Amino acid sequence: MAAAGAGPAELGFAEEAPAWRLRREQFPSKVGGRPAWLGEAGLPGPGALACALCGRPPALVLQLYAPLAGRADAFHRGLFLFCCRTPPCCEGLRVFRNQLPRQNDIFSHEPPPENPPEETEDAVCLQLRSGAQLCRVCGCLAPKTCSRCHRAHYCSKEHQALDWRAGHKQACAQSGALDNTVPDHNFLFPEFEIVVETEEEALPEAVEREDAAEAAESMAETPEDVLDSMAKHESREDRIFQKFKSKIAPEPEQILRYGRGITPVWISGENIPQEKDIPNCPCGAKRIFEFQVMPQLLNHLKADRLGRSVDWGVLAVFTCADSCGLGSGYAEEFVWKQDVAGTPGPREGAARWPGV
Ligand SMILES: [Zn+2]
Ligand SMILES: [Zn+2]
Ligand SMILES: [Zn+2]
Ligand SMILES: [Zn+2]
Repeated sequence: MAAAGAGPAELGFAEEAPAWRLRREQFPSKVGGRPAWLGEAGLPGPGALACALCGRPPALVLQLYAPLAGRADAFHRGLFLFCCRTPPCCEGLRVFRNQLPRQNDIFSHEPPPENPPEETEDAVCLQLRSGAQLCRVCGCLAPKTCSRCHRAHYCSKEHQALDWRAGHKQACAQSGALDNTVPDHNFLFPEFEIVVETEEEALPEAVEREDAAEAAESMAETPEDVLDSMAKHESREDRIFQKFKSKIAPEPEQILRYGRGITPVWISGENIPQEKDIPNCPCGAKRIFEFQVMPQLLNHLKADRLGRSVDWGVLAVFTCADSCGLGSGYAEEFVWKQDVAGTPGPREGAARWPGV
């Protein structure tokens, strides 16, 4: 599968950012909000996005701007991770990849401006340059239109109903700039910019000064460790969890670890995928690990506010090793969910990620 331990990981952190920085033209990496779509061709429609378990439309968890150096056809490259957040399901995960050459008919050939635009209208853009309409609730393709006013567009009946209750019931009958105001449907996840830093390999000495106990945990597992932990009646499960904790202890706020072909950091000894568990890309190439979402992200998603909600230990995303073109649309990739040991599936009132 992946070349073990190739290169350091890039760590992602969630930070507040002004709305303009999260717009499409800025090629953002971000948590939550509506998708800032990259290419417009082959956008996944409601059918492709629907939760595989309950069929409902999902919400964007995060998107990453992850171009490939030396690949003209992937000068721009985006990964979009969605999760069903509708109780009682909150389970279904889907991830899509899209890439564009530098020369394309949507984005400027030049890098995006680093300063805020002069006009500061914060209107939500619900139309692509191609003219395609996006859902007022989730920002995904909207093949359905309100049959009364013909001005409001939706991915599904479900989201039409949400918008109706959130105010379209009144707005529908009025003329005016309906589409410039979108109410909070309590559906999207809160939006943050993802800021990336390269992980520094923690020196055991440096850690030792801070906390001798953690330094001990951060050492690689040797046969002596195994014997030692057997003597201490620690299970393999404990050891893997301790390793996970010590790996992220230097940067406990990390929500994401990125690195094509690096080794994922599993949170549990249960449910670690084998090579055979990761399906090949339809192009025939293997899929390799590209990034993992950490449990820390759950704190930012405020997922608890709807009661039963999304949950995971880690989400590991595997993408086509060739990052193939696949008809220049959005190619679905593969995500593996690992729960914290002994707590499979979504659960109510369960202990949150304990923190480190
Ligand atoms: Zn679902
Ligand atoms: Zn929708
Ligand atoms: Zn209407
Ligand atoms: Zn492929």
